[in-house]
Amino acid sequence: MAEFDLVVRNGTVATAADTVRADIGVIDGRVVVLGRDLPVGTREVDAGGLLVLPGGVDTHVHVEQNGSPKGAETFASASLSAAFGGTTTMITHARQGPGESLRQCVEDYALRARASVIDYAFHLLVTDVTPTLLDDDLPALVAAGHTSVKVFMATRSNALSDPDLLALMARCRDAGALIVVHAENHAAMEFLTETLQRAGHTALPYNVLAKPAAIEREAIHRILTYAELLGMPVHVFHVTSADAATEIERAQQRGVAASGETCPQYLVFTEDDLRGNGEHAANLIFGPPPRTSHDRDLLWSYLKRGVIDVISSDHSPHPLAGPGGKLAGAREGGFPTTPHGIPGLETRMPLLFSTGVATGKLTLNNFVALTATNPAKRFGLYPAKGTIAVGSDADIVVWDPDHARIIRNDQLHHQVDYTPYEGFEVRGWPRTVISRGEVIIEGGMPGARANRGKWLRREAQPAATPLAEFLTNGAELA
Ligand SMILES: [Zn+2]
Repeated sequence: MAEFDLVVRNGTVATAADTVRADIGVIDGRVVVLGRDLPVGTREVDAGGLLVLPGGVDTHVHVEQNGSPKGAETFASASLSAAFGGTTTMITHARQGPGESLRQCVEDYALRARASVIDYAFHLLVTDVTPTLLDDDLPALVAAGHTSVKVFMATRSNALSDPDLLALMARCRDAGALIVVHAENHAAMEFLTETLQRAGHTALPYNVLAKPAAIEREAIHRILTYAELLGMPVHVFHVTSADAATEIERAQQRGVAASGETCPQYLVFTEDDLRGNGEHAANLIFGPPPRTSHDRDLLWSYLKRGVIDVISSDHSPHPLAGPGGKLAGAREGGFPTTPHGIPGLETRMPLLFSTGVATGKLTLNNFVALTATNPAKRFGLYPAKGTIAVGSDADIVVWDPDHARIIRNDQLHHQVDYTPYEGFEVRGWPRTVISRGEVIIEGGMPGARANRGKWLRREAQPAATPLAEFLTNGAELA
């Protein structure tokens, strides 16, 4: 009888810290040994000449979310698409609509998520702060293992008022939930949009002027100030600009537990890419919008220095064609009525490898840290996820660093009718993808059954400052 259920043999194993030649022995879905010349496994994967990486962890994904335009994308299709791109864990959003019970929303959403091929967790997306939510639903859900709360400072349908935001943040601090934020100043965005509309400037490239970097910088500054007052961690989603990254760095230098992510679209596209494309610019309507080439170049240095330490996709699978699609929205009223967001689960890791590692901007270990280890740590999933170590889940990607391909939407596995990266040439692509010791992608073919993904209970997040210190600032005042 074989000693291991699975052996990944002869590969070069890279984690966030090290790169070593090793075989990996797996029993019952977990890594039990790293070594050389391991005995035979029931299943053998030959990784000779290839890289062996921890499965990717994508911590910013929208799938089958309440209140979003309905496309064809489902948990089944999105998770399969993620797996084909080397991602074995995703965090999606259980959204509470106005007047809805957050607890009920999470229960309903969990039923839809069961179709997932890969493991998953949910951010609690709060849009309506009520006494029931603060006193009952939120503490109960966090205690049950949903330990991150998404808030919007942008968009009328989602944004919280500042008093509601503070009340929610304080309760998250007590419960042990991390705040994740879409940080743009909603009032300024609306004012600028209406001003552009009155002047007749609704063509798609004007989206950039309606949401300039200044409104992102202001919102980040404001919420990180609240984080500082409350002594709690805040993680900023989709940091797009040098200004925004500088705000995070300044907060970090003040001792605030501030962190941030960016996404491949901000490392690839600039605002110039929206111009001169007519309605094709709908492919590039996402929020916040892409910035200048100067911003794009500086984001790499913030990644390299660890000020921004997570890469997510912000996968938002609005269709291009059809009623409710991006083109119909663009024809109706230009950028203000075009659904914001682009797909990107499957292309996240190949794009970052190609633009980062293959060009020498990032090391292989930086790449693993940004796409797997840091997101797993930040969101309470480490060390089960995000690394290859004895005891961790056997979520493993055998990666071919020399595989060159041109991205074509008809070769991707999401149920979205376009990719903004159509025709983009990349180098580096997953060859074999393993989730909890099970080979789920091999030779470009899916080998996994649907519904095999598991919901991941996550650990509570420690507050940044002890409560006594938070209340008195270290001094007795009376
Ligand atoms: Zn998003």
